[in-house]
Amino acid sequence: IKRIGVLTSGGDAPGMNAAIRAVVREGLHLGLEVYGIFDGYEGLHQGKIKPLDRNSVSDVINRGGTFLGSARFPEFKQQKTREEAIENLKKYGIDALVVIGGDGSYMGAKKLTEMGYPCIGIPGTIDNDIPGTTYTIGFDTALNIVVEAIDRLRDTSASHKRISIVEIMGRYCGDLTLGAAVAGGAEFVVIPEKGYSEAELLGQIKAGIAKGKTHMIIAMCEHVTKVDKLAEHIQAETGHDTRATILGHIQRGGTPTAQDRILASRMGSFAVKLLLEDQGGRCIGVVNSQMVHYDIIDCINNMKRPFNQELFDLSDSLF
Ligand code: ATP
Repeated sequence: IKRIGVLTSGGDAPGMNAAIRAVVREGLHLGLEVYGIFDGYEGLHQGKIKPLDRNSVSDVINRGGTFLGSARFPEFKQQKTREEAIENLKKYGIDALVVIGGDGSYMGAKKLTEMGYPCIGIPGTIDNDIPGTTYTIGFDTALNIVVEAIDRLRDTSASHKRISIVEIMGRYCGDLTLGAAVAGGAEFVVIPEKGYSEAELLGQIKAGIAKGKTHMIIAMCEHVTKVDKLAEHIQAETGHDTRATILGHIQRGGTPTAQDRILASRMGSFAVKLLLEDQGGRCIGVVNSQMVHYDIIDCINNMKRPFNQELFDLSDSLF
């Protein structure tokens, strides 16, 4: 392997830039040439490819988002589209790729590997929903943003004796919601892993009011229920002013935390080293503070994310 490419794909996450930087700098350090592929698999298909030198990644370690751009490109699921994309890799003499993204991006990486272009997947998503790693790049930054938002909501809901529902991202993974609930001291946490009953939640809220609680924060993972409707129901049932706040894409932006920059730097460097060992079709994780790697398909199809029951119990007992 002499020349590698790097791309970011799927939803962006803070820390992706730090990962790209690490791929470029480690690659150059180990005598490789590194090319940036802009706008994910779509850009690969369109030939948006440029060489990167060490200065191309100056002043990006502290920037959120991804300077390479990202895209959703469902066409990449078709063999023909991938063959066309491979023509571009051939044109630029790129032998191997580092793909930073979520599980969808991993599928693309696996397929390219099977077609003779070894790829390594780096988990970049705020959702923390990828198996084989305790943390994904972007999770820690998003967690801090959500906690700050909850702190702000607490100020105003305490002043107005209001019930606040905060809708938090994570797709179908409750890690961001659970972490934010514990760090933000939310009264209730609703996550997909534990199921949801509106009647039960209403009962708990009423019990809280009976105990003398004048304001409350409900941390709610996205895709569980319609939070605006829930706010109406709570207000009708309790007589307490209730508001829903959907944090939305605010959670995806901003300066990456030190943790995310360090994780991204380690993962980017590790990915390049794996490629140099002729390892393709692998994805990277951090487990017990150590870098690990697994077969991508095994990871997506067979590995399960462990649920943090201890943290869930804590959110309950500290409320
Ligand atoms: P996030 O978790 O942030 O949404 P993701 O990587 O899972 O990130 P997707 O949109 O699912 O996001 O996937 C990103 C891209 O990967 C897709 O737009 C597509 O180009 C490619 N991709 C997804 N699934 C496949 C597949 N089965 N085969 C080939 N390429 C795929």
